[in-house]
Amino acid sequence: MNKFKLQLRTRENIKKLKPYQAKKIPCKIKLDANESPFPVTLSQILKEINIPLNRYPDPETLELKKAISKKLKIKTNNLIIGNGSDELIYYLILAFGGPVLYPVPTFSMYGIIAQAVGVETIESKLDETFDINEKEILTLIKTKNPTLIFFSAPNNPTGNTFSSDKILKIIELASKKSSIVVIDEAYHPFCSQKGFLPFLKDFKNLLIVRTLSKIGLAGLRVGYLIGDEKVLNEVGKVKLPYNVDALAQYIAVHALNSFYPNIKNFISEIVKERDLMFKELSKLNSIKVYPSEANFILFKAKNSKEIYQKLIESGILIRDISATIKDALRVTVGTNEENEEFIKTLRKILNE
Ligand code: PMP
Repeated sequence: MNKFKLQLRTRENIKKLKPYQAKKIPCKIKLDANESPFPVTLSQILKEINIPLNRYPDPETLELKKAISKKLKIKTNNLIIGNGSDELIYYLILAFGGPVLYPVPTFSMYGIIAQAVGVETIESKLDETFDINEKEILTLIKTKNPTLIFFSAPNNPTGNTFSSDKILKIIELASKKSSIVVIDEAYHPFCSQKGFLPFLKDFKNLLIVRTLSKIGLAGLRVGYLIGDEKVLNEVGKVKLPYNVDALAQYIAVHALNSFYPNIKNFISEIVKERDLMFKELSKLNSIKVYPSEANFILFKAKNSKEIYQKLIESGILIRDISATIKDALRVTVGTNEENEEFIKTLRKILNE
């Protein structure tokens, strides 16, 4: 008889943990995961691949660091490369622990990873314009002494950026309390604001996470963390030695060096399409649409679940956000044809 009792050996926080929802749902038009709709293939980036696969990849990812540091005009010592930015968020929480503070609704992985690691989470609700509650967060820093504070800027799934004056005040207080502020700039390439890179020189407790995923290379799994060398040294202690595989390093270097003009064109195209999509969605009376600085748009509709389902029946996959924001759906900006088909189908579903 099998007497093995799994529940005796699973940590309590893992038993309770609801994992990140990432399923492969078959569809014709995929607008659910904030990816780039423009296909990027190996043959576009590389003429030939010359990687010794019998060897481990470079544990220091030096060539990739050089390619990124050249673009951002920073030093390679101010970078750690991750297997996607997800991994870097995980390393940060693993290295520094909790409590972990973040506004909600936001990217769910801050909370999921904190729970998986087994540290306390502190959530601060966004206001009705989806901006942060500065006063509450300042109080929480004083009273709860968070180790890490995460802001997604622009924020997923709401699409807006938080007021940078408010964030700077928070970074300042956090600095006095030795709390680390992480600005997750996954969607920064689509945003009209400067971002927080210029403030790194003023604050040692400020870190920035970015990714290649949203600009056309989600399949590679490459993210990077930017910050003070001493802070990064501590993160480096929990990094798995060969976290970024040799192919990903090699391709990312070539993408950043030789394919970058194409990437920039894709980004401009997405921004143009996003603004067009916002205009079209705004014409629909039965939905409320929110402005976005990212590559997706959030909208609310009374019968959101039904709309989501009917879109799937038409082969169009978007994201149902109603579990976190009442009646909300999130659509990724696709190609012009995909967006037109989405709007046409949605209009039909809504009888408008
Ligand atoms: N941060 C935010 C805000 C995101 O929305 C995502 C992806 N959905 C990530 C980080 C993770 O990106 P990746 O691991 O692909 O770099």
